[in-house]
Amino acid sequence: MILTDTHTHLYSEAFDNDRHEMINRAISKGVQRFFIPAIDSSYTNAMYKLEDDFPNQVFLMMGLHPTSVKANFKDELAHVEAQFQKRSFHAVGEIGIDLYWDKSTLDIQIEAFKYQINLAKKYKLPIVIHCREAFDEIFQVLEDEKSEDVFGIFHCFTGNLDQAKQAISYNMKLGIGGVVTFKNGKIDQFINQIGLEHIVLETDSPYLAPKPYRGKRNESSYIINVVEKLSELYRISVDEIAMITTENSKTIFGI
Ligand SMILES: [Zn+2]
Repeated sequence: MILTDTHTHLYSEAFDNDRHEMINRAISKGVQRFFIPAIDSSYTNAMYKLEDDFPNQVFLMMGLHPTSVKANFKDELAHVEAQFQKRSFHAVGEIGIDLYWDKSTLDIQIEAFKYQINLAKKYKLPIVIHCREAFDEIFQVLEDEKSEDVFGIFHCFTGNLDQAKQAISYNMKLGIGGVVTFKNGKIDQFINQIGLEHIVLETDSPYLAPKPYRGKRNESSYIINVVEKLSELYRISVDEIAMITTENSKTIFGI
């Protein structure tokens, strides 16, 4: 069984004391592919180090996270673009709009999001979208930027069935993680009405640990708890969930 964690912040400070043990624990449970979203320039070197340490398992994205879109965002976008000119990545991410932490930056968040979608078009890469309290705004941007070469993942999908269908209509797969195991997470009530060909797995470690670890530090090996929940909801085996979602991740990331 090969599992793919399509969204994990393995470079986070939360893993400073046991990073390699934590990653090896996941690998030993079958999690053999880790896709690493960027946040901002302060983490770039740590991401490169991670790739050096696990060259066959770790695959990097590059981008500016919406909560890091602040007054200096043009410098940050220049940093992102400079990395793309230097080397290759597997996606532009994570990018998007977050209105939970700061509504006052909406205009520049939209500007940065659109700018980075165009980087993805230029480099023919998928986008990995972060959406928090911003479905309408994100869908408006996807509508404005609509084209056949825009595709990717709606990371940590937490919307309703209509929003799931809308995301899929924009060539997005749904990133499903710990929230599907939460009692009040809501997506467990309809996700099996969405074909598995539209689903990829993620942990978003160190955040959003699944049951029974809810509230604790999340790590990539806990993706097993997400797979077990999906196996129950879709009534198919854990192995099949692993196989289909890993195939989907290959389609998206091209590796
Ligand atoms: Zn993330």
